[in-house]
This record gives sequence, structure tokens and C-alpha cells, in this order.
Amino acid sequence: MKPFVPSLDPENSKLDVVQVDDRVFALCADKIPLNNSGFIVGDDAVLVVDSLITQKRAIEIQEIISSATNIPIRYLVNTNYHGDHTFGNFWFPRDCKIIAHHYTRQSMCDLDREKSHIKKAMGRAGDDISNIIWRTPDITFDTSLDIDLGNIIVQLKHYGRGNTRGDIIIYIPGSKIAFTGNMVIGSGLIPSVLEGNADSYLSTLVAFKSDIPVNKIISGHGEINDSSQLDRHIDYLFYLNEELSNDISPTAKIHERFINGREYSGNIGMEIHPYHQLIQSIHEGNVKMCLEMRESNRRAMSNE
Ligand SMILES: [Zn+2]
Repeated sequence: MKPFVPSLDPENSKLDVVQVDDRVFALCADKIPLNNSGFIVGDDAVLVVDSLITQKRAIEIQEIISSATNIPIRYLVNTNYHGDHTFGNFWFPRDCKIIAHHYTRQSMCDLDREKSHIKKAMGRAGDDISNIIWRTPDITFDTSLDIDLGNIIVQLKHYGRGNTRGDIIIYIPGSKIAFTGNMVIGSGLIPSVLEGNADSYLSTLVAFKSDIPVNKIISGHGEINDSSQLDRHIDYLFYLNEELSNDISPTAKIHERFINGREYSGNIGMEIHPYHQLIQSIHEGNVKMCLEMRESNRRAMSNE
């Protein structure tokens, strides 16, 4: 079966402003799973979360911010390297510093390859990314970085490999809000083991959970959630690992719990979750990725 590719085409959609706290705003796409952004307003500086997928979207973010505050945008943080989070970088002011994990900067090296991935998800609007110049981060870090925006501290944290190897969390300790990019995806969705294995992804999420208390999670895609979304991600990866390592066909329990949308989607009851096809496709990709990873590890071991 051909994998289901969700549309990330931002045409005919907009970003809704959700004030999550005094100084913390989520910019939520009005269609799931289109990308979300957000911003945090200090006394001296504004920090933006991800620049999104096109020039138009990057400008939309800045217009929303300038209608909300006169404080200048000084920082733009990329939660991972994917084009849907970074292609808008170029359209932020030159004096706005772009910050990311050093692996994210390293991964921003093959624009043609990334464009062709994104084009598949953009469909008709693929042309909107033909003019992309990939502006890479000015500042990188390894495990953590604190930024003082003026009376509000924002912490950037890296806990290990997640959906990409440079995934980071943007955390506001004062209000216990976390922007999680693709590492913890929004309500109803499951994590995508795109570039690694379920094992390391699980350790990353457990490290995140044990390090900081979280009240609210604003994901790179999907609805805003509380910390239970992190627990569900941990559960899913735990079951995926367990079934793969016991050589059980990784479907039974996982389908029951996560795919058919009962436990996972909370209040939706017996109905099939609206993102069922997407969840199913992410899950199939995860199983394939993990089995390939295991096979290549096995081969490497037997060659030693
Ligand atoms: Zn994404």
C-alpha cells in the first residue's frame, strides 16, 4: 500500500492565535496536520517558534506578531531541520538570530532533497517553495540554552534523538509550557520514528518527562494538549518496542490501543479517530523503520 502523505499545503488555511499564558501565544493552523508556530513576548525581545513552510506563512507569522506587540522579534528557534519548520527562515529580519540544535544545522545541507520531500506533501502548491533559500541557524547548542527575553526566561533543551536527531523543546519554566515541534506531536496523533529507532526515541521522551514538569504542550502539528500527550507517546513507543523485540507482529495491542482511536483519542469514544488514515500510515512507517534498523544492526553485528 502506498504510504498516506498528509497535505502540508498552507494555501486556504490560516493561523489562529491562541493565548496560552500572559506572554505565550500558540499559532495553530486551522487544518490538521498543517504546521503550528508560536511566539513568546518578553520586555525586550520576542522569540518565534519555527518559521514554517513558505514565504507567505513566514510573513503571516510576523504580521500577527506586529499586530500584537511593538517588541522586536530577536530570536527564531527551529525545533528541527524539516522544511515545514525552517523554509520560512529566510524571510525573518537579518538581525533576528536563528537558533537550533547543532545537528539541525548539520542536517540543513541538501536543499534539493528536502524540497523534494516537502513537494510531495505540498501537492499543488509545490511551486511555493521553488524560491526557498535555506537560511541556516546563526547560533547552535548541544544540551541546553537559556534565553532571557526580558522578565521571562525561555529554555531550549535537547534530550536526544526523537523524530530527528536534533529535536529540541522550547520550555517556559514560569508557566510550564513546552513547544515540542515534532518530538511530541499534537492530540490524537502518534510519534513518527522517522530517522532512528523506537528505543532512542523512547529514552528521549522519558528524559524529557523526568527533567521538567509540563502543564501544556504545543506541538509542531496537531492540537494543543496537556502532559498526557507525552505519556501516550511514551506508551506507544513502549508497546512498539515490546512487540518488535518479542517478535510479535506489531499490530495487535497497538491497533487496539492507538490506531483504532479509542484509548488514544480520549473522548472520541467508539468512533474512528478523524486522523485514522494518518495514524495508520505513521504506524506502518514506524514498524518498517524499526525492522530495517534492526536488520541493519544484525548485519553489522554478524560482520564484526
Ligand atoms: Zn513537521
